[in-house]
Amino acid sequence: MNTGFVLVLSGPSGAGKDTVINELLKRDDKTVVSVSMTTRKPRPGEIDGVNYYFVTREEFEEKIRNDEMLEYAQYGDNYYGTPKAPVKAWTDEGMTVILEIEVQGASKIKEQQPDVCTMFLMPPSFHALKTRLEGRNTETEAEITQRLSIARKEIMMATDYDYIIVNDRLDAAVENILEVIYRHRRHLRERASEETVE
Ligand code: ADP
Ligand code: 5GP
Repeated sequence: MNTGFVLVLSGPSGAGKDTVINELLKRDDKTVVSVSMTTRKPRPGEIDGVNYYFVTREEFEEKIRNDEMLEYAQYGDNYYGTPKAPVKAWTDEGMTVILEIEVQGASKIKEQQPDVCTMFLMPPSFHALKTRLEGRNTETEAEITQRLSIARKEIMMATDYDYIIVNDRLDAAVENILEVIYRHRRHLRERASEETVE
């Protein structure tokens, strides 16, 4: 019985998506994360093929033309997108596949596949978001300003998601997400067994 599914996790830059995902991967061995493709430059410590596939604009546009992307969007001055093939392979194997993507990509996926589970990670306040982004120390001041301005628009989209999870205390946020994952698997298992009976 296959309980594989796609879990979309969005939220403003600095909300804690990477931090939360790292915890989920440690705590649930049926969860994997899709590696996105981007035209932005790697941050110090980021590894090609692990954090992202870092490509040029030309390479990205070729993948779009060849229909190799499940979804993609422009964020800031760059393209970001999800390669199609690995997501299909993993869900076929029964895995929960997390897509850490921004709001435009999330709404495209939900339109194509209404069965995906979508989740918005919300910072406890705008002030906390700013402090986290500044504390991460990976963007210039101008990039932080751009990300905070995008965040204001993204937060207004939160009610379009199936779940809103507040990332105040990290442990509590991770527990809440795991609870949703387990519930969704139960739902898929029950639905599959009903279909077998019919
Ligand atoms: P995102 O992936 O959403 O851009 P990150 O996971 O990089 O965000 O987190 C941004 C910063 O906030 C990091 O420095 C991280 O350590 C910190 N952070 C994440 N979650 C929490 C939390 N619950 N409380 C305090 N700081 C957090
Ligand atoms: P960052 O530059 O901080 O790694 O990511 C910037 C934004 O791009 C984040 O909101 C992140 O969720 C989003 N993002 C990362 N990968 C993808 C992707 O494959 N598709 C889409 N649509 N957004 C992505």
